[in-house]
Amino acid sequence: MAVKRDVTREMQLESQFRQAQKMEAIGTLAGGIAHDFNNILSAIFSYGCLLQQDAAGNPAAQEDIAELLKAAGRARDLVQQILTFSRQREQKRQVITLNTVIRESTKFLRASLPADIQIEINLAPDAPAVLADPTQIYQVTMNLATNALHALEGKPGQITVSLDAFVPSDQFIQAHPEFRPIQYARMAVADTGHGMDAKTLERIFEPFFTTKPVGKGTGLGLAVVHGIVQSHDGIIKVESEVGKGTTFSLYFPAQTQPPALSEAAPDKMATGHGQQILLLDDESALTTPMQRLLERLNYRVTVSNGASEAIGLFRRNPAQFDLVITDLTMPEMNGFEVARQIHAIRSNAPVILASGHTPTINAENLRKAGIFQLIEKPISMTALADAVHRALEVVNR
Ligand code: ADP
Ligand code: MG
Repeated sequence: MAVKRDVTREMQLESQFRQAQKMEAIGTLAGGIAHDFNNILSAIFSYGCLLQQDAAGNPAAQEDIAELLKAAGRARDLVQQILTFSRQREQKRQVITLNTVIRESTKFLRASLPADIQIEINLAPDAPAVLADPTQIYQVTMNLATNALHALEGKPGQITVSLDAFVPSDQFIQAHPEFRPIQYARMAVADTGHGMDAKTLERIFEPFFTTKPVGKGTGLGLAVVHGIVQSHDGIIKVESEVGKGTTFSLYFPAQTQPPALSEAAPDKMATGHGQQILLLDDESALTTPMQRLLERLNYRVTVSNGASEAIGLFRRNPAQFDLVITDLTMPEMNGFEVARQIHAIRSNAPVILASGHTPTINAENLRKAGIFQLIEKPISMTALADAVHRALEVVNR
């Protein structure tokens, strides 16, 4: 006599649970590594920028440095992917039209395309504005376009990126109940590449699922796209046929508010006139290049690699410093505490906080701590110049 029970379901659940736990552990770990890695990249970027200026008049060296900065840029993009994936990056959603972001991201793509691959960009002028984080939309476009390019396998073909307005009909909503009877901005990335079979299609959004060889695929691209679309209350659809091609369609709810005017990037860097800056970061690998950047911008810089030392310096002569730039995460105390102690000495001293990843910081935290601005690492020379200039401007008013 025997009693038998089918435990397939239990086993499936258990394996799902184990998988979810594994993903969480990987996310945490990856987020931690990405954070440290961001600091290393900051140093590479800053020294690269310095070198680029030093190499004026030496075209061969400039070309090499441009390559170096490009590679560092790719590394930064990868770190961004990992941070998004492990949800450690704060979203900065604003009302935007997607046209600009798409045009910007496809510009890079176009530059790297072989001649026999056509790229078509169809952006309908009446596509509605959406509430979105431009950096994340950029990432979505890049990830989808990179996949499309891979799917063409170097053979002649076409990639089409399009944007238009979409209002689902009642019939459509019946067939696709996740849609609501509202207007959407629909963004689509289509390719004429190798396509996917049903088995692949089932798994494409899984993190680390890839059919590509090591070095080419990470399996993170679509997991990130999926995560971003979800956090934007969007919908993602895929159509694919083996040998014919693939189309990814993304639907973002339309925003009725008018889009924010995008600020034009200033092309001239703002410089100082010898103002004194106290620069604090526990890593000298970061303070040294930043000091040199700031000195080039015509500021005087006092560097400190320890928080109590820096506060001591400030206390000795509070009127001496026009601005304090502090790192967020340091062993002795964090940047918020530094700001508090600085303000206890001189309440109107402007403080800029520099940080790699800032999952928990928002405008409210900063305002409460009396911090003028947060700058994100790795920081570019232009962004630094701009932040410092504006902080000093406010003091002088
Ligand atoms: P990766 O590109 O690193 O492999 P992704 O998450 O971006 O990871 O994609 C997962 C898998 O989905 C790919 O390995 C590929 O098999 C499939 N895939 C994604 N986009 C396309 C596409 N446009 N055409 C064909 N297959 C695709
Ligand atoms: Mg990919």
